[in-house]
Amino acid sequence: MPESRHARRDRGRLFISGCRDPAACVTLTGKPADPQRGLRNGNTCGREDLLDQALSGDEKEVLLADPVRIRDIRASIHTVSIDIPLLEGKVAGYGREEQKEFVVCEVVTDDGVSGFGLTGHFLAGAVVEALRRHFLPVVRGMDPRDSEAIHQTVLRKLNPRAMTGVISSALSCLDIACWDIAGKLAGRSVAQLLGGARASVPAYCTFGFPQYDREQLAAAARLHVADGFSALKLVVAVDEKGWREDAARIRAVREAVGDGVDIMIDANYLFSPVEAKMLCRAVEDCGLTWFEEPLHQNDARALADLRAHTRIPLAAGQMEGHRWRLRELVEKQAVDILQPNCCFCGGYTEARKAAHLAQTYNMPIANGGGWPIFNMHTMAGLANGWFVEWHLGMVQAGQILFPDAPQPEGGVLAIPRRPGLGLSIDRDALRETRVDK
Ligand SMILES: [Mg+2]
Repeated sequence: MPESRHARRDRGRLFISGCRDPAACVTLTGKPADPQRGLRNGNTCGREDLLDQALSGDEKEVLLADPVRIRDIRASIHTVSIDIPLLEGKVAGYGREEQKEFVVCEVVTDDGVSGFGLTGHFLAGAVVEALRRHFLPVVRGMDPRDSEAIHQTVLRKLNPRAMTGVISSALSCLDIACWDIAGKLAGRSVAQLLGGARASVPAYCTFGFPQYDREQLAAAARLHVADGFSALKLVVAVDEKGWREDAARIRAVREAVGDGVDIMIDANYLFSPVEAKMLCRAVEDCGLTWFEEPLHQNDARALADLRAHTRIPLAAGQMEGHRWRLRELVEKQAVDILQPNCCFCGGYTEARKAAHLAQTYNMPIANGGGWPIFNMHTMAGLANGWFVEWHLGMVQAGQILFPDAPQPEGGVLAIPRRPGLGLSIDRDALRETRVDK
């Protein structure tokens, strides 16, 4: 395009000399643009009038449609040690015994823009190998913003039998990084790209680690309420004394924090239907907000049966690997709250489908399975988004890698006003926490 009075194009950048509104311009870094430095193709400066004067017809069409292409996927395994309030010393990993590792991937485009994604501990080595050996050759050259095309290609070429597990974890990692890039290119947060339903989300604190005895559990609950949380979750089904001890621990927390605090419990699939019914019967009067993943295998039929026997709302779905597993929970009326987690279900692209499905049943979605600094975008972006899980272990892991990750205030988490995920990677931390060097 020849240089004009209003705009000129140089090596893929559009320079608008007439723009005098830096606040309306957004660069890839999310900082207000110096109009003299130009805008990247596809971005908007809010001065369409200047664009219209400078460009016309096909030329404008071509300029705005320049593709971006995936050049590389860098995937690695990481571990951290965390502090648990009231306990001495660091604890290896970021949660339960098996939660020692997690996977980070960086997707890099041909013009140097990168985005980050993360998935949890399940078969971390296999997830990294899948991303490097199988996913990269399939998605290299695709536009990271074409989320439907990427998912269709992965489904057709890598997963024609709609399996979950490793392939869902790898796809989640990749998809989150692609949405990070899409947001950076558009100058909008992922939450805004998903629909921008709200600017902040309520957070519940997962504090009830099994290492606590009953008195420590009550003390920790008071501690977090004093920090501003008005919703708390504790794990159950982990004490060798069984559901009776769980009932006593739930009651101890309720007595410690009073009736004005939401209390959730999570069995992480560890109860039989009979055990879950016994616990529900024992704590029906405790005003629980939800009972999360009570039963072995997230058995949808058995969950529906339990739901018919208790007044406690049921929640599930955090590790389901695609929309068809989540659909079963909804269709069998197995849950009151659906829990698609973008780090496990196939990223934001798949979480959005699950959220829309739940909307048609007037059902909220909420974050289980942690990693709130990623799931905050789902909960803020979609109309039926509700709580994020402020899981103390995963929060510390996230903050080590992304030091500017937001913190809740008064139990409310504000979505960063930055493009993409709104998170800046600490590359030293990324290197230091890596275990597959
Ligand atoms: Mg859970």
